[in-house]
Amino acid sequence: MGATLVLLCLLHVLQSPTVHSVCDVSQKFSFYMDGRFYRQYLKQHDVRDVRNWGSLSELDLSNVNLLVLTGGDRRIPYDKEAVARIDAFMESGGVVLVMADGLKGPVPVSSLLDRHGAVLTDKRAVSPPTGVGELQGRDIAFRGGSALELKEGWAPLILDAKGAVVLAERVVGNGVLVVGSRGLFGHKPDASDPINDHWVGSLLVERASRLQIDPKLPHRRTWAEDSRMAGPLKLEFHDGTEKFADGILEVYEDVRPHLLAITGVEPAPGMIQRMLILPTGGGGFSSGVCIAIGAWWGGFPEKRYPMVELVSHEAGHSWVLPHPEPVWNEPIATWFGIEVGRRMNMPEAQAALERQLRKARRHDPDLDGIDPMDPEAHRDLVWGKSYFVFEELERLHGPGAMAKYFQAKRKNVSPDRPDYTMDDCVAVWSLAVGENLFPWFRSLAFDVDRSRTDLPSP
Ligand SMILES: [Zn+2]
Repeated sequence: MGATLVLLCLLHVLQSPTVHSVCDVSQKFSFYMDGRFYRQYLKQHDVRDVRNWGSLSELDLSNVNLLVLTGGDRRIPYDKEAVARIDAFMESGGVVLVMADGLKGPVPVSSLLDRHGAVLTDKRAVSPPTGVGELQGRDIAFRGGSALELKEGWAPLILDAKGAVVLAERVVGNGVLVVGSRGLFGHKPDASDPINDHWVGSLLVERASRLQIDPKLPHRRTWAEDSRMAGPLKLEFHDGTEKFADGILEVYEDVRPHLLAITGVEPAPGMIQRMLILPTGGGGFSSGVCIAIGAWWGGFPEKRYPMVELVSHEAGHSWVLPHPEPVWNEPIATWFGIEVGRRMNMPEAQAALERQLRKARRHDPDLDGIDPMDPEAHRDLVWGKSYFVFEELERLHGPGAMAKYFQAKRKNVSPDRPDYTMDDCVAVWSLAVGENLFPWFRSLAFDVDRSRTDLPSP
């Protein structure tokens, strides 16, 4: 009974948020894409959160009262329409949090802050910081960053050791603009550290809930709004990433025939239908159906090989599904990229391979001593040894050993098989090359056993 009541109350809270927040990942993609900011700072309050992946200039803020922005990336300036939309949102009562620093030079969000008399300086704030006003006496964690320079109308909330402002707010119309150094919020590369969670959420929610939203109306993620079909592939982007989309599509189109040749098969059925361009230099991800590519990865478009490797890697995941490779799911995807690069006569590809082999040999000089399946095995060993195995299989059983493997995998491993172990993997390799490879893998220290798989022998 008691538990039921508690549950009902919880459901009530979940159904009636007082705050609809949007965390923007359109100006610069970040780990906040997965709702991390919400989980760290807003979850314990009555908040429903979504992310914005589309152009800010087209974001529907009509039933939103909190918008969370970061500094952005210089390759995607804020356009006038975006700034006007955010200003109108604040005028109507919305709250905007900007987490940004000026230490590395100007950032795009400055075009919004300028209009309200706030400058992200290049001067480093000095620890320890102290709270003022409602944050007086609170513990303030600060991971470093720049101080603010503010015109009149601003109320400081946190000062550094020398009295420079690190967090401040000002009223804009019926709403509020809150600006703080990035170092006051999760600051690890993956933003996994919820620093200052004892005050950030309540400060934002208290201000945002002054503007009423209708909790009964849906609050949905906004996706990148532009797309076009490129053959069977749907290319997705927004106004800021559009200029990178064609170049990355061209790389995909160059890479695809090589992936077909290397794997000897088409992507798994239903896979790789969409390619999303992300505003980042920080890599990409794949869901199999959708691959997402960081637009300026490795210095693209000036430098091309890193993009060839990345696109091959993310696309490659769509070839191995529904059964990801044990041990070398990630290495095999990058090896596809290296192999594509070699086939395209890019010298960086062979260099990337040799670099990783050297790193692995530091742990296991002849690459026959350490089992890469051992959870203690070093990452460099796992990657380098995986490359070594692929190269050796090609040398001993090629040409086209990898293609024979994937053809055998498609033929012998049904999509609904519950799992795919390393024993299964070696059994498939054996079928592919027509020879029992269990002894060979064991000679390289892999703990594999013919008797642990039900797949047929060659
Ligand atoms: Zn991957």
